[in-house]
Amino acid sequence: MSRTRLRAAVVGSGFGGLAAAIRLQAQGVPTVVLEKRDLPGGRAYVYRDQGFTFDAGPTVITAPHCLEELFAAAGRRMSDYVEMLPVRPLYRLAWPDGVAFDYDGEQGRMEEQIRRLAPDDLAGYRVFVDYAREVFRKGYEELAGVPFLRFADMVKVAPDLIRLRADRSVYAVVSRFVEDEHLRQALSFHSLLVGGNPFETSAIYTLIHYLERHWGVFFPRGGTGALVAALVRLYREIGGELRLTCPVRSIDAPNGHGRTHRVRTDSGVEEFDLVVSNADVHHTYARLYGGDPRAARTGRRLERMDWSMSLFLIYFGTRRRWPGLAHHTVVFGPRYKGLLRDVFHGKHLPEDFSLYLHAPTVTDASMAPPGCEAFYVLSPVPHLGLAPIDWEKAGPAYADRILALLEERIAPGLQESVVTRRVFTPVDFRDELNTFEGSAFSVAPKLTQSAWFRPHNRDPRIPGLYIVGAGTHPGAGMPGVVNSAKATDRVIAQDLGL
Ligand SMILES: Cc1cc2nc3c(=O)[nH]c(=O)nc-3n(C[C@H](O)[C@H](O)[C@H](O)COP(=O)(O)OP(=O)(O)OC[C@H]3O[C@@H](n4cnc5c(N)ncnc54)[C@H](O)[C@@H]3O)c2cc1C
Repeated sequence: MSRTRLRAAVVGSGFGGLAAAIRLQAQGVPTVVLEKRDLPGGRAYVYRDQGFTFDAGPTVITAPHCLEELFAAAGRRMSDYVEMLPVRPLYRLAWPDGVAFDYDGEQGRMEEQIRRLAPDDLAGYRVFVDYAREVFRKGYEELAGVPFLRFADMVKVAPDLIRLRADRSVYAVVSRFVEDEHLRQALSFHSLLVGGNPFETSAIYTLIHYLERHWGVFFPRGGTGALVAALVRLYREIGGELRLTCPVRSIDAPNGHGRTHRVRTDSGVEEFDLVVSNADVHHTYARLYGGDPRAARTGRRLERMDWSMSLFLIYFGTRRRWPGLAHHTVVFGPRYKGLLRDVFHGKHLPEDFSLYLHAPTVTDASMAPPGCEAFYVLSPVPHLGLAPIDWEKAGPAYADRILALLEERIAPGLQESVVTRRVFTPVDFRDELNTFEGSAFSVAPKLTQSAWFRPHNRDPRIPGLYIVGAGTHPGAGMPGVVNSAKATDRVIAQDLGL
């Protein structure tokens, strides 16, 4: 039932957009989601081919609590909509020197692995866990769902940030606790999952280590796409409207004392009282609202910020399976720091790579036809603003080199058993998802670009414009963007007196 005469538009149906739309609709604000693509989910799009299901993006589902909270906000229970399957080990880590490490959420199993790899680091690891727990309590439990709209909000948390050494990088802090280089990589690579270089991202992101242990890592039965479908079902059940294949072309911001946003799509112009943009922040300011000088200025400021890396992805299915495979494998390359410097600052495609391999059939065999394996593999690469690579030309050979390496190190006989394959390059991130320079995770999660320093959940100059998703506080990753919706909703509820 509608509690207000106001209408809201949400531009984009990523996790952040859907979460914001559900919260608004659940509070009685009639909401319309306008999505450019033919399917919802944003980076969590789904490809289907020859009986294989390929989740395009997020696969490591952490902090299910933030999703349960969302269902509860609409008076529902998540377990009635989607089944979350636990994944063990959380990751398998593999190095070129043959070292393998099954990264686990359970203290005993993790210690067993460390005792095998670097027994002298066991004591340091235990102190690291205490540190990560404290960062998690502050950085996630207290601050992730709270908007930072005023500089005073930042000043208030500064003493905690100083105490927790938020000024230092993830890798620097991990290195204070453990000596072994494999273990340092094992405890620091996580910031890459939200687009941050472990050598530059604030140590606050060590909270991911604790968050994964605390709640576990999950995979929805049927894939991440089943989770998106569950959110869409919930949203529609409570009266929300979702329009697919409906790109927003431009939006006229209100002028003077007006509050109306005029949203232009291929079907015409429609008026809304508030707009929550889940599209890339640069696209929102520089393109959608680009005709407004206030927004255009923000767009230019965003261009001067550091953007996260891009990704090169191959989705492929094979006619055979490999017993003993892990669901999530990180295949480290010969270089760590040097490779990350090249990916985040280099002007060329590095020769070597570190890969993440997703094999969902390990947890849920329904993701592929019987006897087959579904995969995706991703390689972090520089975004197009740094390295304007001609991906149409470079892509096929790069994909072949990646598959050859996987065959050598993980899955013998892989290449000849591939029956379907497609790639997604930085150019696709730019053109399909409208992201600035093809960045895969938006504005990089450095301390100087976090909390108050990040684009705000409510625009300070354009009344009725709100931001949700990876480009605002707290940042990228499924839990990040779902919490951004909580923070944005909090501001909207205050503004509208809901
Ligand atoms: C390959 C990959 C793997 C990842 N793995 C993980 C993981 O394992 N775990 C994890 O937690 N996170 C992961 N992430 C990060 C996570 O997926 C993202 O941070 C998160 O999904 C982004 O959500 P969002 O709300 O910002 O919206 P997005 O997913 O970015 O969606 C934005 C939507 O806006 C739409 N849009 C853009 N312009 C317009 C327009 N003009 N009109 C209408 N619609 C428009 C787009 O089509 C898109 O659907 C991964 C990301 C990638 C790319």
